[in-house]
Amino acid sequence: MILCESDLAKFAGLLNDCKSFVLTCHTNPDGDALGSTLALRKVLINMGKEATVITPDLAPTYFSWMPGIKSLMTYERQQEECDKVIDAAEVVLVMDYNDFKRVRSLGDKLLASDKKYVMIDHHTDPVAKTDVMFSVPSAAATCELVYYLLRQASLWQYVDIDVATDLYTGIMTDTGGLSYNSNDPDIYLVMAELLRCGINKPEIHDNLFNSKTMRRMHLTGYALGKKLHRIEKYPIALITLDKNELLKYHYVTGDTEGLVNMALQIKDVLVSAFIMERPDGVKISLRSKQDFPVNEFLAEHFAGGGHLNAAGANFVGPIDEAVNRFTENIVPFYAKWLKKSAK
Ligand code: 5GP
Ligand code: MN
Repeated sequence: MILCESDLAKFAGLLNDCKSFVLTCHTNPDGDALGSTLALRKVLINMGKEATVITPDLAPTYFSWMPGIKSLMTYERQQEECDKVIDAAEVVLVMDYNDFKRVRSLGDKLLASDKKYVMIDHHTDPVAKTDVMFSVPSAAATCELVYYLLRQASLWQYVDIDVATDLYTGIMTDTGGLSYNSNDPDIYLVMAELLRCGINKPEIHDNLFNSKTMRRMHLTGYALGKKLHRIEKYPIALITLDKNELLKYHYVTGDTEGLVNMALQIKDVLVSAFIMERPDGVKISLRSKQDFPVNEFLAEHFAGGGHLNAAGANFVGPIDEAVNRFTENIVPFYAKWLKKSAK
């Protein structure tokens, strides 16, 4: 991946010339959102700068081992303090999202501020306009993009084990352990370079993949055993969980992470959906194989978005309505896609 030279020069100029930075990422922050912001924050700290990561809402506790996570500020919880940090900053980094709508009230604050803005993101169709933009949808993860930025803007000297651990985590989580969205051979060279920094790979993998609770395993068993259905005659699988079912298994954030990918393991399934009731609405997660565009489907029917093969949305209303809207629309959408791809 070769980034635009003039953008790299502008980016390096901002990092060298400015003193205080705020790094932001999307709501429900995942490994890539946290990894990319925390990694770049540590680089800035190593450069002697002031840098703070502000997330719109709380980071899940299963990422509590990530280097730098204790320094996080959360807009929803600490709005006044966050506003002060934003007011004092010269540069705002927009990372792993490209539309201020994705960060709720933090977006209103950012839109109303007058800063230098830098976007570093891998989602399609950026909405936000920033002074410097690294918008690369072909990147496996924002963390991969940060890796190339650090290399090509001559900032690699500031990379330490913490930075490498955060970047490695983001790439691993956004590609399901290098299983999807990672066909570029160079991704292995990136991982090799991160390993060369001395990161503890077995420990990261245990933290990421072997840290589940018994409760979570039982909830997964229930979801796969009783709640996994296939839309008859179509390669579409669906799992739903309502609030009573979640309550029964003492659900905590993160317990259903990865469930939607499991249904995609079924041989002929092309589209997998997970629909779950949440206090603030209904969360919809979609995953797909081949070039079935789940981001387009969710943009069209649920005002959601994401990537070609992994997208999400929030639905305000009863879960049954969300499920009906999904099942009624996915079949014609699939039929249309099939017709188009047969051409
Ligand atoms: P997940 O299903 O894991 O929540 O999200 C998968 C992908 O879709 C992520 O890249 C995430 O950024 C994106 N995504 C999740 N929820 C939303 C949403 O409500 N709106 C948009 N535009 N994208 C979302
Ligand atoms: Mn990402």
